[in-house]
Amino acid sequence: MNTPAHQGSESPRTIGLIGGMSWESSAEYYELINQEVRSRLGPLRSASLLMFSVDFGPIEQAQHAGRWDDLAGMLEDAARRLHRGGADCVVLCTNTMHKVADRIAAAVPIPFLHIADPVGREAARTGAQVLGLLGTRFTMEQPFMRDRLARDHGLQVLVPDEPDRAEVHRIIYEELCTGVVRDASRKTYQRIIESLAQRGAQAVVLGCTEITLLIQPQDSVLPVLDTTRLHSQAAVDFALGGR
Ligand code: GLU
Repeated sequence: MNTPAHQGSESPRTIGLIGGMSWESSAEYYELINQEVRSRLGPLRSASLLMFSVDFGPIEQAQHAGRWDDLAGMLEDAARRLHRGGADCVVLCTNTMHKVADRIAAAVPIPFLHIADPVGREAARTGAQVLGLLGTRFTMEQPFMRDRLARDHGLQVLVPDEPDRAEVHRIIYEELCTGVVRDASRKTYQRIIESLAQRGAQAVVLGCTEITLLIQPQDSVLPVLDTTRLHSQAAVDFALGGR
């Protein structure tokens, strides 16, 4: 058989996804990765991937209780399962849990594709130097994303003021992670993006993997750096090795 659909039978690397945080965004990763492979390789091509999907309930409780050490242990275990299953890399499908990225990366001998890096590369490509960052409170307030963008990619990062951070966080956990997408919340995010633009942001990082469900490029006054999309593309870059 030598139809176009069967050409390019070189075996791509297997992507390992740690999902379930929440599964609403993991489903987006699955779709985006497969769409990207299809567009690069042909209509019947799809990704070689494994997903280990956790139960988000205990994860969310541990996050809000500050039990990050326990969380790191759970995700180290997930990474090891992916490695044992034959994954060639680990993709952690949440910004927030990148707080313990170093622990997860150290647990396995395969590459860990950090979510901040494709964001930094896209910012460089588009020339944006000052970024607004939306995400959970953990992502907006703690250094793990901001410092990586600043230190490794030379970017300045702005976050919303306190009442807006609280609302961005609430909408993620109470609505987006539960499959609820509301017009009123889209308008809230749009207003917050406008205020980041007024403070000098040149692009906005959708730094929570569910925000893509609420905000698309046409909804934003600023160019969007969508972590779900960029991370999925980085996974495909790795899997296909530049093809
Ligand atoms: N998926 C979200 C993120 O990218 C939030 C859920 C979580 O806390 O993991 O940060």
